[in-house]
Amino acid sequence: MRDSNCIFCKISGGEIPSKTIYEDDEFRVILDISPATRGHALIIPREHYANLYEMPEDVAGRVMILAKKMAGHMTELLQCDGFNIVQNNGEAAGQTVFHFHMHLIPRYAGDGNEEKLCWNHLELSAEELEDIFRKLKQ
Ligand code: 5GP
Ligand code: ZN
Repeated sequence: MRDSNCIFCKISGGEIPSKTIYEDDEFRVILDISPATRGHALIIPREHYANLYEMPEDVAGRVMILAKKMAGHMTELLQCDGFNIVQNNGEAAGQTVFHFHMHLIPRYAGDGNEEKLCWNHLELSAEELEDIFRKLKQ
């Protein structure tokens, strides 16, 4: 299914041009228009899923397999020093385009993004940690 108002539906469908570095029947991998680093790319499924919650498990599995292949390939070609794979769900998590996408971010020593791609650390009490553990434990 496509959403006619969605920019990533238009990009993945080829209606809007993009710098596509890989594509197959299911996915397009494009360069991010406002990259965090040199080579920052996005895996975009051709189907419209707003986020990870909406995406079927088998598609999510194939996204991860593609992410692994792209990370290896891009690291070799760009000679980067590390690699971040980031995927935001919901406004609170920083999502701005509501068509699932996975960020592939090559990292270079001293690339200046150290603070942006990490987070502050909470100081939780032992009780608070235990509460969360009880909630999440299966
Ligand atoms: P989010 O914040 O939703 O996880 O990431 C959205 C990403 O999409 C941002 O990194 C932004 O630069 C990128 N982006 C937004 N619009 C376009 C576009 O039209 N073309 C490309 N190539 N990237 C886009
Ligand atoms: Zn879409």
